[in-house]
Amino acid sequence: MAAACPARYLNGLMSVALKNELRAIVGEQGVLEGAAVRERAATLWHGRVDAELLVRPRSTEQVSAVLRACHARGQPVVTHGGLTGLVNGADADADDIVLSLESMNAIERIDVSGRTLRAQAGAKLGQVQRAAEENGMVFPLDLGARDSATVGGNISTNAGGLRVLRYGMMRNLVLGIEAVLADGTVLTSLNRMLKNNAGYDLKQLFIGSEGTLGVVTRAELRLVSRTRSQETMLASLPTFDALAELLGRLDSGHEALRPRYRATVAPTDTYVSQHPRNPQPQRGPSMFSGMWPNSPAPFRAPRTSWP
Ligand SMILES: Cc1cc2nc3c(=O)[nH]c(=O)nc-3n(C[C@H](O)[C@H](O)[C@H](O)COP(=O)(O)OP(=O)(O)OC[C@H]3O[C@@H](n4cnc5c(N)ncnc54)[C@H](O)[C@@H]3O)c2cc1C
Repeated sequence: MAAACPARYLNGLMSVALKNELRAIVGEQGVLEGAAVRERAATLWHGRVDAELLVRPRSTEQVSAVLRACHARGQPVVTHGGLTGLVNGADADADDIVLSLESMNAIERIDVSGRTLRAQAGAKLGQVQRAAEENGMVFPLDLGARDSATVGGNISTNAGGLRVLRYGMMRNLVLGIEAVLADGTVLTSLNRMLKNNAGYDLKQLFIGSEGTLGVVTRAELRLVSRTRSQETMLASLPTFDALAELLGRLDSGHEALRPRYRATVAPTDTYVSQHPRNPQPQRGPSMFSGMWPNSPAPFRAPRTSWP
């Protein structure tokens, strides 16, 4: 969140005093410096990390103290989650400090009857999904980077993912957050209620803001019930309009029939010809595949890829 700090540090050089202060806050194990930071960057999905220093706080109090120290010196800070973001929001210049949430990765509590889960921001999405499943519930956000992307990153990018049309984006799945502002102020709003109209809904500002307003440290997430079964369907539709009509019909049906659908535009040949029961490619400008509970759905696709 380089933009949250008021001024670049003088001459791009980081003072020894600041480094020592940060070491005192997070401990020797919580700091990486020089080549150790850049070597790490080489293993990342993509992006550029040229920073000289990386700090790994283990608590909200440590995040607050790190940001307060940096703010006092006008030191820019870039927040890192799992580094799977696709818009380079986590890129860090040589005179930035990286604040990584990787040591704050605990699932703090699960409330099955209240259908909520509280996680630290560095917890991986896959970790949250598994914790929910172990308790007979589902955390609906799902995306290919699930075992790298973090809760804090999902919030800061307002991630959507494979089930977005049914369950919504991260914005629809976060009930409350705790965040630390650039000057170290801690905002705690770990609300667990679905409806809460008491005061401003400040969490919505943080969701999707790519770390520019502060560092998310913990979140209260919404869980849903597991569906009893699911099926996969692949249908090829002649036009985009047909796709929209299909989704509309499914959406207006019984709740249980609503698919966790994903629409993909692709040369149909590529996909359909890979299916063992249908080696012959079928042509069509768009493709639709969906998953939904097993049921005698009153649905007939305008044209399916195989009978
Ligand atoms: C294979 C793959 C599949 C993907 N699929 C989808 C998809 O289907 N749908 C979709 O919407 N996105 C998708 N994405 C992108 C998605 O936005 C990211 O995967 C994820 O949400 C980012 O999480 P992260 O922890 O990796 O964040 P990072 O990449 O580390 O950071 C992303 C941004 O958030 C900020 N940030 C990170 N943590 C915090 C924090 N705790 N507090 C404040 N700011 C923070 C960073 O500074 C940066 O600006 C995909 C990415 C990959 C690589």
